Amino acid sequence: MNAKQLKEVKSLLNKPKNIVIVTHWSPDGDAMGSSLGLYNYLIQLKHKVSVITPNDYPAFLNWLPGNNKVIDFSKQPKPAQTLVAKADIIFCLDFNSLKRIDKLGDEVGKSKGVKFMIDHHLQPESFAKYMLHSIKACSTCELVFELIQLMGHKKLLNKNIANCLYTGIMTDTGSFRFPSTTAKTHKIIAALIEAGAENAEIHNRIYDGNTEGKIKLLGFSLSEKLKVLKEYKTAYFSLTADELERYNYQKGDTEGVVNYALSIDGIRFAAFFVETDGIIKTSFRSQGSFDVNVFARKHFSGGGHANAAGGMSELSMEKTLEKFEELLPDYKTALQRK
Ligand code: 5GP
Ligand code: MN
Repeated sequence: MNAKQLKEVKSLLNKPKNIVIVTHWSPDGDAMGSSLGLYNYLIQLKHKVSVITPNDYPAFLNWLPGNNKVIDFSKQPKPAQTLVAKADIIFCLDFNSLKRIDKLGDEVGKSKGVKFMIDHHLQPESFAKYMLHSIKACSTCELVFELIQLMGHKKLLNKNIANCLYTGIMTDTGSFRFPSTTAKTHKIIAALIEAGAENAEIHNRIYDGNTEGKIKLLGFSLSEKLKVLKEYKTAYFSLTADELERYNYQKGDTEGVVNYALSIDGIRFAAFFVETDGIIKTSFRSQGSFDVNVFARKHFSGGGHANAAGGMSELSMEKTLEKFEELLPDYKTALQRK
């Protein structure tokens, strides 16, 4: 966003507007934190603001301020459709291709509302008039913080915004450990704590609310389902719908499991395959130069970041895993590089 566009955005937001905030399919901490952080900022400017998600998100995010106002498009398509159609401005947060919001993408595409993308994923598509996009940002929450700053509204940072943005930065940086974490990230975190973010409490709410089923599913995954392919510096897990059911699966229960595969010494590439909603959802993680965004785009209709990406497969689990293992020899050399 250049200076001229910033001026336009300032004048656009100068008078109360109908605003819709949408975020990606299966929202995570950054998707919900950035959406509700922006929501809690915009309502202070007297706009009428709605947050719409394509589908449901994990219960460990239900405490975020403004959560009770969120509309799930998969459960309430009609009111969501009306809001999108009537919106003056549509903020698109934490995604950069309308495919990432599934059928809600058709509604957003049709709407005359001015689109404003705030995102940090690679290769953004050009459907938005305004973009606050940086692949260097550790999270979309970091960019929402920057927007508030650019608007000259740092004084409007309150505890609700701070709690939301802290959550997204914490979850997207793996609790401030991924290489995307910079001095700037920590400066923003300091400002958020000063504005009232309940940092210790947030860690508790996100990481210490596990159900017995979730912990046992993790145990099962680690002891029974982990496959290590040393030759390719690769490790992966898979979980079928039956296996999920056995452990009383709730949305979000497998989030982060892929990182256990990556944590094994010598492993550079980790994958996780889970059967949900009749398809196989894939998660890819890497350490070093191996680009999982490219891999996910090329083979699993997905995308994301260089070291964290996702995608999907419409094949059976067995065929998906076969496909994955058959691809590895092509990447053998790339996987040996640091
Ligand atoms: P996760 O493995 O945690 O679901 O996602 C890792 C990263 O890849 C996240 O930044 C997420 O937004 C992105 N991602 C996950 N699934 C997809 C997908 O199907 N398409 C695209 N373009 N990005 C994805
Ligand atoms: Mn993100």
